[in-house]
Amino acid sequence: MENFYAPPSAFRNDLVVLPEDEARHAGKVLRKQAGDEIVVVDGEGGWHLVRLDHVDKHAATGYVVETRQEVGEPGYALTLGLALLKNQNRFETFLEKAVELGVGEVVPMLTARTEKGRLKERRAHNILVAAMKQSGRSRLIRLVAPQPFASALEAPSDLSLICHERVDASSSILNALQQHRQARRLQVLVGPEGGFTQGELRQAEAAHFAAVSLGPRRLRAETAALVAATAIMLTLA
Ligand code: SAH
Repeated sequence: MENFYAPPSAFRNDLVVLPEDEARHAGKVLRKQAGDEIVVVDGEGGWHLVRLDHVDKHAATGYVVETRQEVGEPGYALTLGLALLKNQNRFETFLEKAVELGVGEVVPMLTARTEKGRLKERRAHNILVAAMKQSGRSRLIRLVAPQPFASALEAPSDLSLICHERVDASSSILNALQQHRQARRLQVLVGPEGGFTQGELRQAEAAHFAAVSLGPRRLRAETAALVAATAIMLTLA
């Protein structure tokens, strides 16, 4: 059963008023009726079992009968910095998969070799909401505005990694993760189609980022980001 989404502002005490598109989906598409129970997540870690008390084609309201916190959320906070990509579709696909893999925050980066790329905010938000509902998470990924590479280096973390295809196999991301199993705040950077410059790698290393490999093949940027998120998900769970 797919979850529904309503932001915290849609809740008043025990009463929830579903946003119009969610109400339409419940009433018109899924033919939910008064008395049916649905799960509503609020995007801030709240998971609510809701009994509907009114449903028509445009509106739906219900009462919260049970609340849990952080359902579907990982036990670590992962910030993924991915250079903005020329191909917007690829970035959007990355966003959807990032939700499924437990990423907490996405920082679109502007690097030396970043080609002009755009990100449609509204579309991106809708993708993040749909993926959150589908994957059973209760927290929305935070998608920040595109930032210069240097700003992306400043966030505090227990483990900071920069993915680079030309480091030797012994610096695999798995080795780095196995040595830092207690890390709870992680940051991973992935470069654009043209890669990071030597200058950027040096800058990152000066900011205590470790350069890590994701295996022997050159991956597309969005693949690299998802492989890194997967490695973290399966190692730190
Ligand atoms: N510089 C490359 C392509 C960059 S691939 C070229 O020769 O054209 C885009 C980004 O994905 C890289 O900046 C890096 O962060 C990441 N990446 C791709 N393959 C990788 C690998 N095998 N190991 C680590 N990072 C990788």
